[in-house]
Amino acid sequence: MNLFRRPAPSLDDLILEAPSDTSSSESLMPSVARPPQVFVRGQGSWLWDSDDHAYLDFSQGNAANSLGHSPQVLIKALADQTQALINPGNGLHNRAQLNLAERLCHRTGSDQAYLLNTGAEAVEAAIKLARKWGQLHRGGAYRIISASAGCHGRSFAAMSASAGGPENRFEPQLPGFSHVPFNDLPALHAAVDAQTVAILLEPIQGEAGVIPATEHYLKGVERLCRELGILLILDEVQTGMGRCGTLLAEQQYGVRADIITLGKGLGGGVPLAALLARGKACCFDVGELEGTHHGNALMASAGLAVLDSVLEHGFMDHVRESGVYLGEGLARLAYRYDHGQLRGHGLMWGLTLSDDSADAVVKAALHEGLILQAPQPNCLRFTPALTVSKSNIDEMLLRLARAFSRVRTAQLQCRKGIAV
Ligand code: PLP
Repeated sequence: MNLFRRPAPSLDDLILEAPSDTSSSESLMPSVARPPQVFVRGQGSWLWDSDDHAYLDFSQGNAANSLGHSPQVLIKALADQTQALINPGNGLHNRAQLNLAERLCHRTGSDQAYLLNTGAEAVEAAIKLARKWGQLHRGGAYRIISASAGCHGRSFAAMSASAGGPENRFEPQLPGFSHVPFNDLPALHAAVDAQTVAILLEPIQGEAGVIPATEHYLKGVERLCRELGILLILDEVQTGMGRCGTLLAEQQYGVRADIITLGKGLGGGVPLAALLARGKACCFDVGELEGTHHGNALMASAGLAVLDSVLEHGFMDHVRESGVYLGEGLARLAYRYDHGQLRGHGLMWGLTLSDDSADAVVKAALHEGLILQAPQPNCLRFTPALTVSKSNIDEMLLRLARAFSRVRTAQLQCRKGIAV
């Protein structure tokens, strides 16, 4: 045995460099794994850390910052609303809340809207609404069928609807939920019974690795719901608000859900979500939904600014064109580095890698001044600002190529057991 031989380096040893910021995160309860950098400033597609290093952000707060970092329209809307009225309380109307609900309904063809704080809350509210409808119109049916590997948030009910993920490990599943494989119409059909009240799906599964529903599937699901007299709930927390090149992803599929959830991009970076209901699904009565900050005026003003921006003439064309440009660039890179499948719509893309190195690539990318996400061990996700420019995309591709090379070199070194 050679006692002097150094242990083989890990990918992390080879990729990471310690940042100089000494701020401690010890008081933070452990939750999300975060890199040590502390971020202090953002503008558009760029973020700066406390050492003034610039990072190109192709995650944008998990797709929440739809207009990028600190856009002028959001700054102005929030400043104006702050001056006028932050929060009259959820027991009183405020102008921003009324305007946003009215405009969301008008632009999405919905009949009622309710404003909340997070995507998980909106999903909870959707489940509650469907079950209320089940009480009224389907003999007390309450069961919700959703797709395996889907993700609808981290509250108890949203997690039970989500079927999987490490955060579900210690939680008992709530009753009244069942899961079937995504894009499998016969499995879905077979799972519906007399207790089923609704089918809850993401049009494109984000956390599962950007997996789009096929058109045949989503149209089939809609048809099934109509034939069997149950509700279709589309969770558009990640896909909505222009992310996929139309205001709602359902428009691209030519389907129409009974209930829709929005979140993330709706607030442009501030916590805002919405529940939309159509026709017979509008059945909540006074007192059946409540939350201290539901319809908060400040957050609603942000939602109005975002909605106005994404509905501006040419905005969606920009999302679609930049989406194609990003997709083509990623496909070229995937080919060059022998990676796998590329999936997505608009500005929501997932790239499957040839191995489980997505976390290593995310770390290497950070080192190259690029912020990305790895929703799965073998998948990278790209959700840039909807305002991203072609030069941002070109720069991102350069940095990503360097990150891929860095990981390849580290993997080779690991294999050879050579410490650097
Ligand atoms: N629904 C979908 C489709 C999501 O992707 C997420 C979050 O990733 C949620 C719901 C939960 O949203 P939030 O994290 O704002 O609670």
